[in-house]
Amino acid sequence: MNFDSFKFEASLQEGLDAMGFDKPTPVQEKAIPIILEGKDIIACAQTGTGKTAAFILPVLNKIAKSGGNTLNTLVLAPTRELAIQIDQQIQGFAYFLGISSIPIYGGGDGLVWEQQKRALEEGAEIVVATPGRLIALLAGGKIKLDSLQHLILDEADRMLDMGFSDDLLTIVNYLPKDRQTILFSATMPPKIRSFSKKLLKDPEEVTLSVGKTAEGVTQGAYLVHDPQKEDLVRHILRQKEYEAVIIFASTKDKVKSLYKVLKKDFEVEAFHSDLEQVEREQIMSRFKNRSLKILIGTDIISRGIDVVGIELVINFDTPNDPEDYVHRVGRTARADSKGEAITFVNDKDRYKFNRIEALIGMEVEKLALPDGYPQGPSYSNSSSNKKQSTTPKKGGKSNEKPKGNFVKSTHSEKPARKPRQNPQEALVVRDPENPDTPSGFKPRQNPKVDKSPEFQEQPKTSKFGSRKNVID
Ligand code: AMP
Repeated sequence: MNFDSFKFEASLQEGLDAMGFDKPTPVQEKAIPIILEGKDIIACAQTGTGKTAAFILPVLNKIAKSGGNTLNTLVLAPTRELAIQIDQQIQGFAYFLGISSIPIYGGGDGLVWEQQKRALEEGAEIVVATPGRLIALLAGGKIKLDSLQHLILDEADRMLDMGFSDDLLTIVNYLPKDRQTILFSATMPPKIRSFSKKLLKDPEEVTLSVGKTAEGVTQGAYLVHDPQKEDLVRHILRQKEYEAVIIFASTKDKVKSLYKVLKKDFEVEAFHSDLEQVEREQIMSRFKNRSLKILIGTDIISRGIDVVGIELVINFDTPNDPEDYVHRVGRTARADSKGEAITFVNDKDRYKFNRIEALIGMEVEKLALPDGYPQGPSYSNSSSNKKQSTTPKKGGKSNEKPKGNFVKSTHSEKPARKPRQNPQEALVVRDPENPDTPSGFKPRQNPKVDKSPEFQEQPKTSKFGSRKNVID
């Protein structure tokens, strides 16, 4: 199947062609026809499967067809970073359509209040928001959603985990009852099902390879005692000139202390919720353009953030929640590229790691500690993993031969897509003087965009001229 089968509007198809999207991924194949028909949908798909395009493309097509230019689509996302990223993808896809979106999220410096109001007054068809910030705007009467036609909840499981359940219900009270509701979630625990009953009408369901780590990720685990971990990270980072590494730690205090240790030897940054929004954006931008190669963070960066080409993910601590493991590991091997994921498992975490292996449907190779390291804890007395093998668990496929230190993960579905440039990077106007904007594709001007030269200098343009993310 290719994208032609959806019979998208010519200008949307043009956008897809410009991005090099030829074949829909499995979630896109299943979800797009349902959304085009106008039905409510509950889709279970993890990040890295092409889920964003799965919900955005059909909605853009519907907006393009109806020709309306009022605010008709609301996308809710759990974090600012994800909201920004979705907005950027929308801009990429909508490039030839002249449809605008505005990202709205909290945590800014107050400078763009006016800009936000202006942007909302001038009108955009799509708002991408985090729930807390949107509620403040709704309560203050700063935004009207009575003409809304599409409500999209992305990473709904994460939003509920973060305690947004009441906020979401409050937001829904401001929306017309007659709308299409699209819910995407990486996992489908019972609470999502019962929550979705409150918002969706007779939804169709789409489920895909939940809990499977992306194809192309080689996964390994070291059994280590806590005092060995810092040394082991240093050892791993010295093995190769890595271009893009994310190290996950369980708490922001651990992120900060690991940062202090590693910055003596490596160019690293710590990414956590104590940073100002502008600092977070700067760090992310440096990481995306590879001027920063190593990022240490909490799970705040494990969801949704689409940085192409992450080579290595290190779980300094075993994630508590097996699904967080899938999300962390999903930072690498995106869009069919290759990547490695290494997890440190201490004595206490062995049980947690068993649960992770059960969820991903395979045993992860237990790696030998480097020569000269004191013995780590043994894996043999943990509850279900007696052997240190790479045998897939029930439900997994047979493994390929181990490559080097690692074994390739098994995967139940092969996404029908090829490695490609990240669309939001491809469709941004490049400024060769500015290292934040990598060189490459120079796009055509958006039909609604001011054509004056000063606007063409801007990294991002829309019908609002120079775009800035809308923050408070
Ligand atoms: P997501 O799951 O939405 O975070 O998407 C993961 C990555 O896959 C993003 O970089 C997308 O741009 C890319 N992608 C999504 N759909 C396709 C497709 N059909 N062909 C090629 N790349 C895609």
